Amino acid sequence: MRIYNSQVREKREFVPIEEGKVRMYVCGPTVYDQIHIGNARTFLSFDVIRRWLIASGYEVTFAQNLTDVDDKIINRANEQGRTSEEVASEFSDAFIEQMRRFNIMDPDIRPRATKEIGPMIAMIKSLIEQGHAYAVDNGDVYFAVRSDENYGEVSGRKIDDLMVGARIEENEDKRDPLDFALWKGAKPGEPSWPSPWGDGRPGWHTECAAMVHRYLGTPIDIHGGGGDLAFPHHENECAQATCCWHVPFVNTWMHTGMLRVDGEKMSKSLGNFYTLKEVLDEHSAPALRLLMLQTHYRSPLDFSYERLEGAENSLARIATAVENLRWAANHVEEGAAVDEQAAQKLIAATEAASAEFEAQMNDDFNTAGALAAYFNLVTEANTYLEQAAGAVDEEAAVVCAASIMGAFAILGIEVPIREALDLPDELVGLAADLVGFEGDGIEAAAEALLAARAEARAAKDWGRADAIRDRLNELGLMVEDTNAGARIKRA
Ligand code: AMP
Ligand code: ZN
Repeated sequence: MRIYNSQVREKREFVPIEEGKVRMYVCGPTVYDQIHIGNARTFLSFDVIRRWLIASGYEVTFAQNLTDVDDKIINRANEQGRTSEEVASEFSDAFIEQMRRFNIMDPDIRPRATKEIGPMIAMIKSLIEQGHAYAVDNGDVYFAVRSDENYGEVSGRKIDDLMVGARIEENEDKRDPLDFALWKGAKPGEPSWPSPWGDGRPGWHTECAAMVHRYLGTPIDIHGGGGDLAFPHHENECAQATCCWHVPFVNTWMHTGMLRVDGEKMSKSLGNFYTLKEVLDEHSAPALRLLMLQTHYRSPLDFSYERLEGAENSLARIATAVENLRWAANHVEEGAAVDEQAAQKLIAATEAASAEFEAQMNDDFNTAGALAAYFNLVTEANTYLEQAAGAVDEEAAVVCAASIMGAFAILGIEVPIREALDLPDELVGLAADLVGFEGDGIEAAAEALLAARAEARAAKDWGRADAIRDRLNELGLMVEDTNAGARIKRA
């Protein structure tokens, strides 16, 4: 498996620190509002990366924090006349709810900044003792960037370049414009905790470093986030961790490309955002996942509702192919002449798609390429079904359908299959009423109705055939004539 390490700017063979195990950390959200679909794109990317590592046999430990103390939360709380805890609690719950709706796996460990103050203070104390940080009169503590000779290693920046544009704000008391806050002295009305430097709260970069160390142990295999976090957030996390514990922090840094609308990065500050909640209220999670995964995680992703509709249609096309394969496999006409060569061709195409999927995923999680392999297979399957008419090779059809379902399941995309079982119970009563059906199975009732309709049509009794159709319509059902015969579906 090869992974692009954004620190060295190239793909490298992935070698876990501990054989068979992967420890990964992905920066979580600041919980002051519903997340937008740009944030969701980053979280989805790492969800799929995690799923593929698991599918490849690794035992993955995945940690993600919730930043539940921050200026943005405090501002939102002040605007709304609420406490910062109330706002953070509401949007932590909202985040977890929307992630689950989007079929993102829960992290194994979900630390919250406000519950990790002790370990953060310990880290800051150690940094001060080792000469990498200093406290100032107002209770702030800063990290001395120039004390870290490797500063810039994560994002590839040079200290001298950073000096351009760096400045000290009026209310700051730092020694060097590059220094960043590890601890912020309390201001009236803000949440705060006691510390050796007086009451205050941690800086944002502080929490991730402390949590990675506490819950996963450094170095870790993979650390991820959106590309906008590489600098300064990840740079600063790394500086603190390496200066504090003297071991490497992260083996592979992974950064996602930005989701854009009309060519611009989606962000709260630009106001050009859709929340994940509003999108999922109107569209299916599998379609949004499919849309996003059709672009490589490192490339920018252009979002539009038209593209989302397109993904919805693609998904329906995949579902229909799977339904047709399964249905045809279950309805092979007796004595039909099966074309063995065509069946072998479908099996070979299935094996090729599966191998291509694996190769693409092993090549830096190229979900776009992996999906393309299966879109091709769906086309092959449709061609096969059309040519085979009723004479389908059962095994080829079943194997192909299972492979399609398996591939999408690995990506966490639930294909919206309408199972035969999905037909309503009322079908049994209808069959009893119309054709004297006596059993209680829904499938059997459907067969009986279809047989009666076929008989009526053969006898040119259009009135009866139409009556069956109309009564089915009343139940929201329709008869679909396929190459392999007629079947009843939800309209
Ligand atoms: P935040 O709550 O702002 O820290 O963002 C949470 C995550 O979403 C971070 O990993 C960000 O890098 C990521 N993110 C923010 N905006 C976008 C975007 N437009 N596209 C992709 N990821 C984003
Ligand atoms: Zn972080």
